[in-house]
Amino acid sequence: MYFDPVEALERDALAQLQTDRLRATVERAAKSPFYAKRLAEAGLSAASVTSPEDIRKFPLTGKDDLRSNYPYGFLTCDRRELVRLHASSGTTGNPTAVLYTRKDLDQWAALVARCMYSVGMRKGDVFQNIAGYGLFTGGLGIHYGAEWLGCLTIPAGAGNTKRQIKLIQDFEVTALHIIPSYALYFGSVLEKEGIRPEDFPPRIALIGAEPHTDEARKRIEQLLGLRAFNSYGLSEMNGPGVAFECTEQSGMHIWEDAYIVEVIDPVTLEPVPEGQVGELVLTTLTREGMPIIRYRTRDLTRLLPGQCACGRTHRRIDRISGRADDMLIIKGVNIYPMQVEQVLMTMPEVGQNYLIIIEREGYLDQLRIKVEIQDEYFVEDMRGLRSLQEKIAHKLHDEILITPRVDLVQRGTLPQSEGKAKRVVDARETN
Ligand code: ADP
Ligand code: ZN
Repeated sequence: MYFDPVEALERDALAQLQTDRLRATVERAAKSPFYAKRLAEAGLSAASVTSPEDIRKFPLTGKDDLRSNYPYGFLTCDRRELVRLHASSGTTGNPTAVLYTRKDLDQWAALVARCMYSVGMRKGDVFQNIAGYGLFTGGLGIHYGAEWLGCLTIPAGAGNTKRQIKLIQDFEVTALHIIPSYALYFGSVLEKEGIRPEDFPPRIALIGAEPHTDEARKRIEQLLGLRAFNSYGLSEMNGPGVAFECTEQSGMHIWEDAYIVEVIDPVTLEPVPEGQVGELVLTTLTREGMPIIRYRTRDLTRLLPGQCACGRTHRRIDRISGRADDMLIIKGVNIYPMQVEQVLMTMPEVGQNYLIIIEREGYLDQLRIKVEIQDEYFVEDMRGLRSLQEKIAHKLHDEILITPRVDLVQRGTLPQSEGKAKRVVDARETN
């Protein structure tokens, strides 16, 4: 029923496992130049750990710590033990490097395989990885997980949608990994090619690596004729395989035998009550080369209360509502890009792509939203288009409390990324 019995371990036993592993992690971390100093300054050692809650005694680790201790400051072992390097995509600044030993890679692959199993993938599935290979962990990280599970694994990489479709059809691919914004685009290419969702072979898609709404997920499921499961990870915590939806599709199980999870108030840094949104903070429990204690992910989510119907005991987090640094403040109102997506993706007239532009007019910031429109609506007369424009602006106002300017554009005209989408453009400097 589970890939690994640890997935259904009783909470008490899980807490004991976490305590033992946290102690080992602290001991190990103290071998790195960065933590040797940090832990000594705080007067902390493995002996400070008697329960998983003791994690709160430890100082937080931020992206800046990783940057200023680049490249080897977090390393706990001889460099000759290392076999792989990845880097964050640099979505929000300079990249940071993550280093893996042989054991780290095996443990990571097993975690990813566990995620795949939990959404119904099995040995014998044919799996196509439609993600950029290279420094991005969504390439090799997902790849080795699928091989670990025993799938025929096709390292298709990103882009060249027509070739992707041909591979999928020729090899009867049953499962995919694809970034949500590219999956939406992929869906529009299938439409254009006249391939009906029911004739498209895959039955499972793993989607993740960037924020997306449940509305976008539903669209992907309809366009591609499959079930899509949310996959969460970040390079600092290995990459994909940190938290994953199971077939219940009600939140992502975070693998607590491998990570300690906390959700904190980003300002007071105190834990928030279960169910309340805050910043996700993670600690690695099994990493050898580069353990990280209390990493501030900047990702906003909440711990979901209650047990999952699947029987797994590991707690679930809600889908990521955005990054703390994603928030826009326009006319004094806080807006997250995912609020815009949520509105757009429920409207049948709206196509698969959109772009949020911040402009300045005089002293005021303005929001402009470019929206791709489905072909059948684009042929309408001016009046029809104008009223659609107003309808979209109105619905957006209901959600974000300001009225943006809305530009309707033809399908395929907005920039399409094969990797993580850039949803927001700041045009204030260029005006
Ligand atoms: P970067 O931080 O430069 O994008 P990574 O490639 O390590 O580098 O990406 C990790 C980040 O991607 C996460 O911190 C999170 O912001 C985002 N992310 C990953 N998976 C998801 C997901 N399923 N939903 C929302 N955001 C995600
Ligand atoms: Zn579950």
